[in-house]
Amino acid sequence: MGALYLHIPFCISKCPYCDFFSEVGQQQQIDDYVEQLKRNIKIASTQDSQPLSLDTLFFGGGTPSLLSVNQLADVLRCIVRYFGINPAAEITIEANPGTLSLEKLKGYRQAGVNRLSLGIQSLDDHRLQQLGRIHTVAQARESIISARAAGFDNLSLDLMFALPNQDLLALESEIAELLTFKPEHVSVYGLSYEEGTDFFLRQQAGKIRSCDEGLYADMYLLLHNYLVAAGYNHYEISNFAKPDSLCRHNQVYWKRENCLAIGAGAHGFQDQHWGKRWHVEADLNHYKECLIQGKDPVKLLEQYDRDGAMKEYAYLRLRTSKGIDVQEFYRRFGLEFQDVFAPAILKTKDYLYASGQRRFFDVNGWLIYDHLISNFI
Ligand code: SF4
Repeated sequence: MGALYLHIPFCISKCPYCDFFSEVGQQQQIDDYVEQLKRNIKIASTQDSQPLSLDTLFFGGGTPSLLSVNQLADVLRCIVRYFGINPAAEITIEANPGTLSLEKLKGYRQAGVNRLSLGIQSLDDHRLQQLGRIHTVAQARESIISARAAGFDNLSLDLMFALPNQDLLALESEIAELLTFKPEHVSVYGLSYEEGTDFFLRQQAGKIRSCDEGLYADMYLLLHNYLVAAGYNHYEISNFAKPDSLCRHNQVYWKRENCLAIGAGAHGFQDQHWGKRWHVEADLNHYKECLIQGKDPVKLLEQYDRDGAMKEYAYLRLRTSKGIDVQEFYRRFGLEFQDVFAPAILKTKDYLYASGQRRFFDVNGWLIYDHLISNFI
């Protein structure tokens, strides 16, 4: 499976809770960045052991939907030229409802994008304002309708929960409306207060009260129950999908498979010698300089030994409903899962299920995932 992640690190404005690498971008900066991306793609294609053709592509951000249709098509043509794209590939773009129109969505679809991940985040205008989002609920609804009209039959919607002063009833009414759009995929994220963000400072100063643990758990279970009852498979801690609509790109990440990364702030993985992770520095000037000089902007972050690889494998796989296949674990690492992780298995025995070759947590384990997984890593 060949996978490629492209990072578009620009947004119209910075949301006060966000710690992703993105900057408020001017049009000229975005135009220049597209040229840099194309150079980056060409350089990446000359490196060793690159895939012959790609099965998944993911434009993430930032706000990738700030790219015009021509820019997106230009980048895709460049990828086809240097890597090739499998005709059945999954090609996703993350989009902000405040940056879309029917015409743009039709253009993306015609350029080859076949999966749209819409950051609607909330279906309540007051909460959208609180989150500093640039769009309204009306724009979110319109984007969903336009996406369908443009031919997107693989639509993912992001919904946030555990927002300040949000209660279960309020969340329930948002889920109920979200389900009326029949998205193929739903991602849910509890608001977290990350250091370096404006929300973190406000929380520290006592200006925002974060959701207490009990309510957070109730909200997570509410989302799980609602979405499962509506026919979604809760296939990863934060992700739900209709059958056959699991995100192929994210599964590459959870399976610890190769993923190329292009663009400032992007992270990649290569499954060689127990695996290595690398990134492109989150620095637009550095990125531009490297590419002007014809240098590969990639930097090694971590080279794993077998012990590190097994721990990371457990960490990633136990996030998914499939969990760990103990035979596959043995094939990969030459050791038995139950021997390597005997103490961790014992400590998590009330939550770790066994079914045939599978070892997995269910939603109750995911509720305390950080605690449980700390035994494995
Ligand atoms: S639009 Fe997304 S990436 Fe941009 S600042 Fe807001 S949350 Fe962060």
